[in-house]
Amino acid sequence: PRSPWGRFDPYDSPEDQDKEYVGFATLPNQVHRKTVKKGFTFTLIVAGESGLGKSTLINSLFLTDLYKDRKVLNAEERISRTVAIIKHTVGIEEKGVKLRLTIIDTPGFGDAVNNTESWRHIDDYIDQQFEQYFRDESGLNRRNIQDNRVHCCLYFISPFGHGLRPLDVDCMRALHEKVNIIPVLAKADSLTPAEVCRKKMKIREEIKQFGINIYQFPECDSDEDEDFKTQEQILKNSIPFAVIGSNVQVESKGRKFRGRVYPWGVVEVENPAHSDFLLLRNMLVRTHMQDLKDVTREIHYENYRAQCIQNMTRMVVLERKRSLREKYRDGSEADFPLPLAVADTEKERLIYEKDEELRKMQEVLERIQEQMQHSHRSGC
Ligand code: GDP
Repeated sequence: PRSPWGRFDPYDSPEDQDKEYVGFATLPNQVHRKTVKKGFTFTLIVAGESGLGKSTLINSLFLTDLYKDRKVLNAEERISRTVAIIKHTVGIEEKGVKLRLTIIDTPGFGDAVNNTESWRHIDDYIDQQFEQYFRDESGLNRRNIQDNRVHCCLYFISPFGHGLRPLDVDCMRALHEKVNIIPVLAKADSLTPAEVCRKKMKIREEIKQFGINIYQFPECDSDEDEDFKTQEQILKNSIPFAVIGSNVQVESKGRKFRGRVYPWGVVEVENPAHSDFLLLRNMLVRTHMQDLKDVTREIHYENYRAQCIQNMTRMVVLERKRSLREKYRDGSEADFPLPLAVADTEKERLIYEKDEELRKMQEVLERIQEQMQHSHRSGC
């Protein structure tokens, strides 16, 4: 008989069901309910040379087509030419699951005369978000922290060069410890399929050769199902994703799709034979969003946090040493080295012991020098 409490019967007893069943098998449902209630956030940044189609691709990926018939809670203005870091935030809802998606569009490299370190603003932006999170986390109210940490960086590589340019290498190397980099081969419609294949291989080799740590797809467990393993392998082999972006709907042979029209034909953005657009979008949205967030939290943010704490400790030690130095200089107490009694960490003790050793050696040297001078003067 159906319980009057419906699906969640508080008097439900394990004996009524399977003898072995206690009920913790529902834990995933409990987690699911809680996380859905809280909602999800995801932040993506785009980087690369100017004019490679970053804004267009982002527009195609998220802001229009993907959510065209879904509820958009609030969308800021559409993407225009990117001259400064622009933050677009959309609240989207799908089957009751809410996602606050933030896309950071950045000015492209190559516009300035001197482009060295033109990724600096991206670097600073990522650091600022970590810093803000670190402050919030160390503050009094840790309950409703807004997580603006950057979970992924789509790095655009030009289809016109012979692989990576020095600027690409420098930029990716400057960012790879801070953010999950996913390289994309831009404007893939300007290359033949064979060229795409060759460029991808060359870029993968160069990424390895220059020691760039791009985002690594998680290793499959041996008990993972075959479909999943195949999908992961396809993703790994597709790096860098060859993408095509377009903001216009094209009508051809009775079908309407997002594409680009050329005198010799039409390219379809979402056609897997034309580009990896769908592969990239599915990976970002459907299959790896949570992993990108986990890696950000567990590796990139942890590194930042550890570095911060180390710097803070170093500053405290320096400050302490400075104040001790002042105290021992001003007061009647003995001059350097500071007495071992004031060293409170093992490291400080070692430093003071070494100082003491050096001081003694210096004294011996000075004494020898004095003796030599004395014997020289007395003509011995
Ligand atoms: P951004 O400076 O990297 O943000 O580049 P934009 O998105 O402003 O695009 C620069 C130009 O490239 C525009 O004229 C776009 O229409 C064009 N464009 C964008 N994506 C593609 C693409 O996939 N293929 C081709 N051929 N052109 C593209």
